[in-house]
Amino acid sequence: MTAPRVIVVGAGMGGLAAAMDLAREGADVTVLERADAPGGKMREVVVDGSPIDAGPTVFTMRWVFSSLFEDAGTSLENELMLFPSDILARHAWKQGGRLDLFADIERSAEAIGDFAGSNAARGYLAFCARSREIYQTLKPSFIAAERPSPFDLVRRVGFSNLGALIRTAPMKTMWAALGEYFKDPRLRQLFGRYATYTGCSPFQAPATLMLVAHVEQDGIWQVKGGMRRIAEAMQNVAERQGATFRCGAHVAEITVDRGRAAGVVLENGERFEADAIVFNGDASALGLGLLTDAARSAAEPVAERDRSLSAITWCLKTKTSGFPLEHHNVFFAEDYREEFDAIFRRRTICDAPTVYICAQSQARDHLLVLINAPAGLRDEALDMQAIEQRTFGLLKSCGLSAAPEGAAITTPAMFEALFPGSDGALYGRANHGAFTSFQRPGACSRLPGLYLAGGSVHPGAGIPMATMSGRLAAARLLDDLATTGHVRSRSTVRR
Ligand SMILES: Cc1cc2nc3c(=O)[nH]c(=O)nc-3n(C[C@H](O)[C@H](O)[C@H](O)COP(=O)(O)OP(=O)(O)OC[C@H]3O[C@@H](n4cnc5c(N)ncnc54)[C@H](O)[C@@H]3O)c2cc1C
Repeated sequence: MTAPRVIVVGAGMGGLAAAMDLAREGADVTVLERADAPGGKMREVVVDGSPIDAGPTVFTMRWVFSSLFEDAGTSLENELMLFPSDILARHAWKQGGRLDLFADIERSAEAIGDFAGSNAARGYLAFCARSREIYQTLKPSFIAAERPSPFDLVRRVGFSNLGALIRTAPMKTMWAALGEYFKDPRLRQLFGRYATYTGCSPFQAPATLMLVAHVEQDGIWQVKGGMRRIAEAMQNVAERQGATFRCGAHVAEITVDRGRAAGVVLENGERFEADAIVFNGDASALGLGLLTDAARSAAEPVAERDRSLSAITWCLKTKTSGFPLEHHNVFFAEDYREEFDAIFRRRTICDAPTVYICAQSQARDHLLVLINAPAGLRDEALDMQAIEQRTFGLLKSCGLSAAPEGAAITTPAMFEALFPGSDGALYGRANHGAFTSFQRPGACSRLPGLYLAGGSVHPGAGIPMATMSGRLAAARLLDDLATTGHVRSRSTVRR
C-alpha cells in the first residue's frame, strides 16, 4: 500500500506547516523550494560575515507554534529557545518625544500617562479592551477557521452575539476609530501603524485591524540565533516525520490531468507526479500564468492597486550613537497621511517615511532598517541616494546617528524576484475596506487537487497566520483525499 504523494511548492511558513502536518498524517511529502534554504520571507542576509534577520522580526501568537509542534509530537521549547520581550517597542517622533510600550499593560498605561497625560492613559486602556474584544470575537470565527463568507461569519459568531460582531467595526476606518481613543496625534500614529503589520494603510483599513495591537500586547518573543531558526526547526520536524526537502528547485509548471493537478515540472525539466499539491508561493503567481496556463484558473491575480505594502530594507552592521536602541524601534515623521497617500495613491515613497529598526545582537549593531514602499515600484523609479538621505536624516533628527554604508539593500523589485507573482507586495492583498479580507482565496484553489497556503491566502499574512493557512490547507487536502478516493492507500492517512 502506498501513501498519497503530496508535493509542497515553497518552504515558507505555510509550506513548512503543511509539510509537518501532512507528513505526520502519513503522506509521502516532497517540499520543493526555489531558494537555497527554507523560510521564504523569513530570510537572513549575511553582511560582513554576520547573518542579519532581513524579514519578520516580531514573533507573536506563540500558541500557534505551540500547538503545531505539540501536534507533531514535540514541543516549541524542545525545538527553539524563545525569550519574551518586556519592551514591545521604542517609539520616537521627529517633532519630539519618546515612548516605550511594554508587555505589561499597566506599565504602558503609566508610560502613556507620563507622555501625553492621564486622558491618554485612559484612552489607551479603553483601546486595549476594544482590541482584545475584537480579537476574541474573530479568533475562533475567522482567524483560526477556514475562510468564511460574510454570512458564515455571522453564523459562526452567533446571531445572539451580533453586537460583538458590530463592535469589530468593519465599516469604520482604523484611523477614524483611533481618534475616539487618542487625541494626541503621536499616539494615533503609533497605534495606526499596526495596520502596516498586514500591509495596509490605517486610513483605508477597517477598524477591525485594531486587533493587531492586542496580538502584540499578548506578547512578543525573540528567538535565540535569529528568526530563521523557526523555519529550520519546522523543516527538522517535518523531516523527522518523513518529509523530503529539495532546495534550489524552482517549480516552473503545475501539470493538470483530466481537470486535476497531477504533478509539477522543475525549471530543469525534472518531473514529479502527485496526488495533491500545496502551493505556498504568492497565489497571484498562479493567475498570472507563472506556473503555466494549465494552472492559471486556480486563483485570480491581484491587481497592483489592490496589493499590500512592499518595503525597502537595509541590512547593515554599524555602530550607532545618540539614541538607545531597543530590539524594536520606530521613528515617526510628522505627516502620516502623506506617507500612505504617496504609497497607495501616487505609488511612490513620501519625502519623510516612518522608519522601523530591528537592532539585533547584544551590541545592537546588526540592524534591519525598513521603510514602507508601494508594490510594483521599479528600481529605475527609485532615487536611492535621496531616499537614504531622508530615511537616515529622520533618524538623525530623532537623535540616532547611523549611516547606510555597506548595507545590503532589498527593494520592491527584488522582493518580486524573490517571491514571484507578488509584485513585491509582502502581505498579499491589502485589507482595505470592510469586505476585502473575504476576498483572499481559501485553502482550496479552483483547480481540484491544488491547495493554497501562505500570506496571500486566508487568514492572511504574518508568520502565525501564514502558518495557520498551511495547517488549514493540509487538513482540507487530507479530508478531500479521503472523501474523493484519490488516496492511494486511505489506511496510511492517520486522521
Ligand atoms: C521585511 C519583512 C518584514 C516582515 N515582518 C514581519 C513581522 O515582524 N512579523 C510577522 O509575523 N510577519 C512579518 N512579515 C511577513 C511574514 O514574513 C510573511 O507573512 C510570512 O513569512 C509569509 O509566509 P508564506 O507562507 O506566505 O511564505 P513565503 O515567505 O512567501 O515563502 C514562499 C516560498 O515559496 C517559494 N516559492 C515560490 N514560488 C516557487 C516556485 N515556483 N518553486 C519553488 N518555490 C517557490 C519561495 O522561494 C519562498 O521560499 C514580514 C515580511 C517581510 C518581507
